[in-house]
Amino acid sequence: MKSRRIILKIGTGVLITPEGIFNKNHISKIVNDIAAAHKRGEEVVLISSGAITAGINKLKWKGRSLSLREKQAAAAVGQSQLMNLYEETFRKVNCLTAQILLTADDLSNRQRYLNVRNTLFTLLKHKVIPIINENDSVAVEEIKFGDNDTLSALVSSKMDADFLILLTNVEGFFTGDPRKDKKAQLIKEINEISSCLQKKAQGSGDWRSTGGMQTKLEAAKIAIASGVTTFIVNGLKEGVITKILDGENPGTKFLSKKVKIAGKKRWIAFGARMKGKIMVDEGAKEALVVKGKSLLPSGVKKTEGEFGIGDGVSIVDLSGHEFARGLSFYSSGEIKRIKGKLTKEIKHILGYKDYDEVIHRDNLVVL
Ligand code: GLU
Repeated sequence: MKSRRIILKIGTGVLITPEGIFNKNHISKIVNDIAAAHKRGEEVVLISSGAITAGINKLKWKGRSLSLREKQAAAAVGQSQLMNLYEETFRKVNCLTAQILLTADDLSNRQRYLNVRNTLFTLLKHKVIPIINENDSVAVEEIKFGDNDTLSALVSSKMDADFLILLTNVEGFFTGDPRKDKKAQLIKEINEISSCLQKKAQGSGDWRSTGGMQTKLEAAKIAIASGVTTFIVNGLKEGVITKILDGENPGTKFLSKKVKIAGKKRWIAFGARMKGKIMVDEGAKEALVVKGKSLLPSGVKKTEGEFGIGDGVSIVDLSGHEFARGLSFYSSGEIKRIKGKLTKEIKHILGYKDYDEVIHRDNLVVL
């Protein structure tokens, strides 16, 4: 059987107890599950959180409110603890591991991304399990992924993975917050990440994990658009990885899109950094989503953020929901002046007209 490529993200809530210490017993169960997959010939890449929390605990900083610098320092302390634990635990099941620390720049810059990709594929070829985390000690606001859910989705997209598995401390995606709402129900299968679903996910993080359900949904959105089947499962339960590989669904499954976004459009959608937002009216939304048209100035309501010509921008509807991304032909300053106007008025307003469209269809991806 052809080996499958699995990106497995382990959240802090799975690795570390509420008291802030590594749950070694639990980690060794997950490692056994991974080793079983690995022995079957599957390729596994791990994305592991936990460095900051482990560092905070080691430095006895728990309960303090920390500055960004202190968190970066904690990550430096915690990351080596984390790797030490993984190395030791994987050694017991005869698996070799490698550490890769990434910042957002490493994936959005094409040359660096190709280097990382080569390293990852070489490690997999030699049966080593790469363990990735965000390089928190150097990542400041502008170069941050922000959370490992997003990072794992980008890695799964760029590595053409078969599965993205997000191990968390709840059963999957619920209709409400299961810790507060007794009536919240587990959704077993999702094939469209609607704005209504995104609303349900709001505000469901805890102090140790950056993400919560909102970032998991965002991650699933990236992954399924790239053709990667995604699962949110309870990592505290034994054998969930084996179950998935055997075709079961122990949590919530997000079905991957049949037509996956490829090449340049995938880079626009998930590789490029979004520098700002363009809000469009309902008519423009329909033209982009249903009719496959370009974005014209007449449909633009407003812009947010400063961006230049060729920069990546999010396209949002009137409720603020992002439904597309693209590379802008005009800067934010220019769009402010031509928004709501007809194409034929561009020249008169700006004194020139380089393009009819604000974003051409070829540079636009509907999410
Ligand atoms: N990179 C962070 C850490 O290792 C975790 C980010 C997250 O929780 O998603 O502590």
